[in-house]
Amino acid sequence: MDFEVDKIRQDFPLLSKKVHGHPIVYFDNGATTQKPRQVIDTVRRYYEEENASIHRGVHFLSERSTETYEKAREKVREYINAASTNEVIFTSGTTGSINALAFSFGEKHLAPGTEVIISEMEHHSNIVPWQMVCERKGASLKVIPFNTKGELVMAEFKKLLSEKTRIVAVTHISNSLGTINPVREIIRLAHKFEVPVLVDGAQALPHESIDVQDLDADFYAFSGHKVYGPNGIGVLYGKEKLLYDLPPYQGGGDMVDCVSFEKTTYNQLPFKFEAGTMNYIGAAGLAAALDYIGGIGLKRIREYERYLLEYATMKLMTVPGLEIYGNAANKISILSFLLDGIHPYDAGMVLDKLGIAVRTGTHCTQPVMDHYKISGTLRASLAFYNTTEEIDRLHAGLHRVREMFG
Ligand code: PMP
Repeated sequence: MDFEVDKIRQDFPLLSKKVHGHPIVYFDNGATTQKPRQVIDTVRRYYEEENASIHRGVHFLSERSTETYEKAREKVREYINAASTNEVIFTSGTTGSINALAFSFGEKHLAPGTEVIISEMEHHSNIVPWQMVCERKGASLKVIPFNTKGELVMAEFKKLLSEKTRIVAVTHISNSLGTINPVREIIRLAHKFEVPVLVDGAQALPHESIDVQDLDADFYAFSGHKVYGPNGIGVLYGKEKLLYDLPPYQGGGDMVDCVSFEKTTYNQLPFKFEAGTMNYIGAAGLAAALDYIGGIGLKRIREYERYLLEYATMKLMTVPGLEIYGNAANKISILSFLLDGIHPYDAGMVLDKLGIAVRTGTHCTQPVMDHYKISGTLRASLAFYNTTEEIDRLHAGLHRVREMFG
């Protein structure tokens, strides 16, 4: 496979570290990704050379900092092909984005008798905020089921859509099953009822090229730290006309136009949704991360990660008693699995001692675990800096687990 993974790995300082005396194998990329030097340097340089609060001062540093922040917004706009920077709202992450939208959208559009549709494979971040707002507003939550392979049952989705539906909120890619959902089709069907769709893109941005206009997504959320950027920064994309009509989520500095005790008016988009001192350094780091990925090219990343997925699936299937959960025809390099009769925590602990970092547990998707009637899985989520040699080490590690507990 023509992919310079050895060269790429040199960009990621953490990947050359050792854990328990072994070179680290980092297979927890679904939770968070490691950072390339280009991102780390951007953040360090920002603190060393231009740190100042944005949008607040006329002094040199503040103006420069504001410029960098707004350039980062433009970078994100370009990356996801939003029509305008007014549609790019910086948040703390996917969770922050979804909570903001659920609160704001719920205030305006939900009432008793109305419905919100989510899916059975959502991360808790795309379940709980909707549950909270439905409870507050007396609306109901409807759930699209998935089949044994881990694919959404579209026929059921069609049955759930009705004139009562106010919004559909679905994940682009499942963090516990790896399934790539047919979001384009979901959006098309929802739009027939003039229902907007929020896509949770937390797992999609690192793996797929996203064009929000081409998808015709109404809202799209993602986190910086999952796409090789810093923690504490994320994005809520929204179509301008929809955002314009929504009330702000949080009140505070910068989101206002004019404040008096009698009446406050709000700032224009996107600032209406950015209260307080924003994570402008995180935004610059995110822009550096998007530049970095763009430099490698998502097409090449996808090809290589597909190769890793095939290799890992083939290898894991040779481990006796191993079952993979999530076998969708269209999936990314995430493998959730169990070893017959062995608790995932026990297996995860042994792998850790061998320097292999995998996730164990429910992956914040308890309904997915309930679907399969299991308490959790082991999850290896692979990134473009992982290698087939690392997969071989996981394979050997799983044999060791079996020797110990099998
Ligand atoms: N949605 C999905 C599909 C995710 O994988 C995650 C993170 N695991 C989230 C939402 C939440 O992201 P964050 O914790 O960065 O807000």
